[in-house]
Amino acid sequence: MDSQLIKKTAQAIMASQRVVALTGAGISVESGIPDFRGPAGLWEKYDPMEYATIDAFLENPQKVWMMLREMGSIVGKAKPNPAHYALSKLEKMKLLNAVITQNIDNLHQASGSKCVIEFHGNNSKLVCLKCNRSYESRDVPLETLPPRCQCSGVLKPDVVFFGEGIPLDAHLAAQEEARKCNLMLVIGTSAVVSPACDLPVIAKGSGAKIVEVNLEETQLTRHTSDWILKGSASRILQAILEEIVEDEAKIRSR
Ligand code: NAD
Repeated sequence: MDSQLIKKTAQAIMASQRVVALTGAGISVESGIPDFRGPAGLWEKYDPMEYATIDAFLENPQKVWMMLREMGSIVGKAKPNPAHYALSKLEKMKLLNAVITQNIDNLHQASGSKCVIEFHGNNSKLVCLKCNRSYESRDVPLETLPPRCQCSGVLKPDVVFFGEGIPLDAHLAAQEEARKCNLMLVIGTSAVVSPACDLPVIAKGSGAKIVEVNLEETQLTRHTSDWILKGSASRILQAILEEIVEDEAKIRSR
């Protein structure tokens, strides 16, 4: 971990009027939820391009629900990790204005973050494709697939599949945050899924600094990011938070 870059990031956060975090699957890997890129069981078994498209769901909901049931049991057991908690602490300290997340796992809210823009929906709800009625996922038995509504319509998790549009409210709110922020932390995303990957570009075009936190470089690193903190999101965000807490203590004691 590069301690100079940690300090530089902590200072940039404290000096910026509006800070936004854009998070992806990488932030939840340390909570036990595999991302799409790493070598991990679930996505070796189910190719996301075969199972996570709306066409696949509509054509064969039972087949896609086999994957969703397995993913749901992993997500349902997952708890926030120090990276989620560091972001919620920064929000409480009034140093972070919003989290825009591509994740559907509800872990930002579970860690206490209040201003969370869910770009790809949330797995904790199911919606009926026929009458639009909404259910809590935990209340719906999954012995027989696909689960059905009282009206007999097929239930679908309230998440955005590949090939579906982004919920309008979330899309507009995320674009506004991207335009208004002075600093965007881009954490644990490969930045290849559109239109989420446009948000750092929008922020950069509006004059914001872009700081990536990732195990490896992404397609943003060379052209859009000002710098990258390489390493695990939980270690890096904790280190940034500690640096900020120390700096604030020094300022108070002066
Ligand atoms: P991705 O799987 O394409 O990329 C994950 C990125 O995180 C990679 O760049 C990887 O290097 C990085 N990463 C992995 N572990 C990390 C760690 N411990 N610390 C820091 N970085 C780490 O994820 P994406 O860009 O979010 O796109 C995948 C899509 O799939 C998203 O739309 C998302 O909705 C969905 N998805 C969500 C979840 C979830 O809700 N937890 C899980 C898998 C996929």
